[in-house]
Amino acid sequence: MRILVTGGTGFIGSHTVVELLENGYDVSIVDNLCNSSAVVLDRIKQITAKTANFHKIDLLDKVALDGIFESERFDCVIHFAGLKAVGESVKEPWKYYNNNLVGTLNLIDSMSRHGVKNLIFSSSATVYGSPKVVPITEEHPKGNCTNPYGQTKSMIEQILTDIHKADGEWNIVLLRYFNPIGAHPSGLIGEEPNGTPNNLMPFITQVAIGKLPELGIFGSDYDTKDGTGVRDYIHVVDLAKAHVKAMKKIFDNAGLEIYNLGTGKGYSVLEVVHSFEEATGIKIPYSFKPRREGDIAACYASADKAKKDLGWVAEYGIKEMCLHSWNFQKLNPNGYGE
Ligand code: NAD
Ligand code: UDP
Repeated sequence: MRILVTGGTGFIGSHTVVELLENGYDVSIVDNLCNSSAVVLDRIKQITAKTANFHKIDLLDKVALDGIFESERFDCVIHFAGLKAVGESVKEPWKYYNNNLVGTLNLIDSMSRHGVKNLIFSSSATVYGSPKVVPITEEHPKGNCTNPYGQTKSMIEQILTDIHKADGEWNIVLLRYFNPIGAHPSGLIGEEPNGTPNNLMPFITQVAIGKLPELGIFGSDYDTKDGTGVRDYIHVVDLAKAHVKAMKKIFDNAGLEIYNLGTGKGYSVLEVVHSFEEATGIKIPYSFKPRREGDIAACYASADKAKKDLGWVAEYGIKEMCLHSWNFQKLNPNGYGE
């Protein structure tokens, strides 16, 4: 079976390509490399001793995208490609709506014209907005997304839901990721943020390696166990494995399904810092800063539905997430070196 992975050289996509190849699937990747490096392709080969077909194509290039569907036959598409920087999306909303929405519409168009109606979409816990209750189940109503990035996720979910409603031949799984961190245990692939990291774990690893002087902790007065924000961090390899399980569900004619992907446990910023220090033996200097605009106090998943329906549970704990994130940073101090 051949799987098309859009955004397959990115952080989560590359780990998923590894899992797919290791599970015997053939893989084709479409990525325009706007936020990833072609070096990832060699790294995937080093890990799996297998090669994925690579197409350096922008999803906005409808003709080129359609050409791939003309030349290859896909059993399922896993759609990771998109822009994901929350702050940038506030400053340049058009870029986000155009890239994420038009890119997805072009993909759906090619899929439908070539009779490929199996799709897994990378959504996010951000669609819940500020949760009314935690842990968050899939039944929790979608909330107000405070930024254009989150809006694109919510809108694409709606588009895909309507497409399934109109044509029951479509099998669509919407995966709502919580906070993916960690890296492949080999240290060969991981997360390479563009510029100064916005997310917690890449910021911590850059402090650990000496690129940044200290971590600023955004808010110490939240109504949480220690006043700092609580999130559900999930190892990227566990996340990648969930995609393989979700695909099996698709091949059993899933219809439309939504799954939260998290561990079900919430860790505060201070707990993450201390876990990192324990796992690596490196001290992380930090100071408290004001709350970051748009942040919520606590967000963690109920992952019971994925367990029941997909037989998937996250296996890695917070220490391994910290250790593997650090391992990738240490082995690749300048990322993929491009
Ligand atoms: P990433 O930026 O590492 O990967 C996305 C990939 O898509 C990149 O390789 C980029 O070059 C590519 N891309 C972007 N626009 C494209 C286009 N128009 N045409 C072709 N390629 C394009 O991001 P990631 O962390 O791996 O995230 C993957 C998906 O998961 C994204 O859709 C993201 O919104 C979603 N997601 C990520 C997180 C997270 O915290 N990392 C959380 C929830 C959801
Ligand atoms: N955070 C922080 N300092 C940073 C980056 C993040 O204190 O430099 C906090 C943030 O306020 C939140 C948690 O770490 O409580 C996770 O933030 P991240 O940006 O990684 O993910 P989010 O849940 O916001 O998508």
